[in-house]
Amino acid sequence: MSPPVLRFAPSPNGRLHLGHAYSVLQNEAEARRLGGRLLLRIEDIDPTRCRPELEAAILKDLRWLGVTFEPEVRRQSEHMDDYRAALLRLDAMGLLYPCSCSRSAIKAAAADPPSRNPDGALVYPGTCRLNAPGPDALATRLDMAKALARCGRDLSYRRFWPDGRVEEVTARPELWGDVVLARKETPTSYHLSVVVDDALQGVSHVVRGQDLEAQTDIHVLLQALLGLPTPLYQFHALIRDDRDEKLAKSRNSPALADLRAAGETPAMIRRRLGPDQV
Ligand code: GLU
Repeated sequence: MSPPVLRFAPSPNGRLHLGHAYSVLQNEAEARRLGGRLLLRIEDIDPTRCRPELEAAILKDLRWLGVTFEPEVRRQSEHMDDYRAALLRLDAMGLLYPCSCSRSAIKAAAADPPSRNPDGALVYPGTCRLNAPGPDALATRLDMAKALARCGRDLSYRRFWPDGRVEEVTARPELWGDVVLARKETPTSYHLSVVVDDALQGVSHVVRGQDLEAQTDIHVLLQALLGLPTPLYQFHALIRDDRDEKLAKSRNSPALADLRAAGETPAMIRRRLGPDQV
């Protein structure tokens, strides 16, 4: 049997902070526990936000932290054909439709009270599915009802824990409505490329933050539609700052580079993030 495969998949749209360090160290710990290989994947599909100098900074931070990966790094921007092929397969199944709704049009068309997805955002009201879309398609959406009917079975995946426990979890992709799978300016999406890449790279165990737990249900649906294997998933806690807010690039959380400049060492960071990590 081939060894387990794990991956850390940062997006180079900002600097790495302690939350990323925690995530990569969880991946490292689980790869070690399972005797698996750890891959690095750069999720840079968004050309407006991802920059090569941020990727270089991420690689530098990871080297400094002392995490070792398999030598080959996959950069999503170099594999758009793989995502296009997956999109075409879904289209050939009749599961996609073009959408010309702007954010404000979606807001205006939402029911009162609006239905919201597990992340609290508006669920698309289906305007372009129900009526002919306008001339300028901004996005390609998955027809969720059709996709679920095509699967024709309840969807589930296996969640694994650091203590070795595994439990079966029911996936509820319907809570997300007709999700966007590609945009005019980016012919793919996070959901589509993550599913395609995890399969292409043979990822068997995904360790990611709790903030992606609910979205995993969409991934399980796409895997079923595309005939791809579903990895096991683990969701780790999110590191919070002193005000108990989730650390995010958008807020002013200290970057690893700032901590390094202030004299912190990789051992201090590892200790700070948990005794298992030293
Ligand atoms: N690229 C995603 C992020 O930086 C994580 C991908 C994943 O774990 O699926 O949040």
